[in-house]
Amino acid sequence: MSNPNFELIEHDITNALIFKDKVDTIYNLACPASPPHYQKDPIYTTKISFLGALNMLELAKEKRALFFQASTSEVYGDPEQHPQTENYRGAVNPIGIRACYDEGKRVAESLIYDFQRQHKLDVRVARIFNTYGPQMDPKDGRVVSNFIMQALKGDDITIYGDGTQTRSFCYVDDLITGFHKLVESNYTGPVNLGNPEEFQVIDLANLVLKKIKTNSKLTYQNLPSDDPLQRCPNIDLAFKKLNWTPQFKLNQGLDKTIEYFRTYL
Ligand code: UDP
Repeated sequence: MSNPNFELIEHDITNALIFKDKVDTIYNLACPASPPHYQKDPIYTTKISFLGALNMLELAKEKRALFFQASTSEVYGDPEQHPQTENYRGAVNPIGIRACYDEGKRVAESLIYDFQRQHKLDVRVARIFNTYGPQMDPKDGRVVSNFIMQALKGDDITIYGDGTQTRSFCYVDDLITGFHKLVESNYTGPVNLGNPEEFQVIDLANLVLKKIKTNSKLTYQNLPSDDPLQRCPNIDLAFKKLNWTPQFKLNQGLDKTIEYFRTYL
């Protein structure tokens, strides 16, 4: 923010952006990504994913800029293939409560590759798996921030379902390194970026409880509909094309995240 060459423009990308200057690269990260946030106004979420991507692609086309898209592991839905590789086509419920995000991101990918074919646009697509770390919104609503905040405040830890569903958690610095490596590479297909160490939600809860001295107890709530039962990236492609693998173990990343939330509180 203090760099004189930095300028912040607040703009809703569901509207076209008229931009006079030269543009080299567009990183499209706009979209709420936490289920309670993207489900609050699902029609708007779909508009951000579709119209937002379309507007940014039009801008990239006009400027002949490289276009980077923050896509998601949610394109795989509740996967029948495990771990998920990039050529797996997914199992998404197109009419469920997650569809605004999952299908929104899927249609964005389809647009991106149409711009590549029709307009020879240079594109990069990162399929991001669950990510966490310092600077995360304490009210983000996702499992890592919820469990840490609950433990720090002494509130009960809310397990949705029986806690046997799995996720793989990537530390934010690893993800950002992956973004840079992808943009600097010449690989244009979708690439999974995530940490392949897989944990059950209940294991995460117990790990947080081991790290934070608290009176919190585990409570069980209903599993939201269409909540994927398992998720783990196959990252062979990222290793082969970008020489990228995550460096942070969950144990280390959680310590840094707990420290951040403790200071926040
Ligand atoms: N989850 C949970 N308690 C919470 C928040 C989430 O048990 O307080 C579960 C959720 O049902 C899902 C997993 O943790 O199975 C990851 O949820 P999150 O919202 O973090 O990400 P996503 O579902 O998008 O992978």
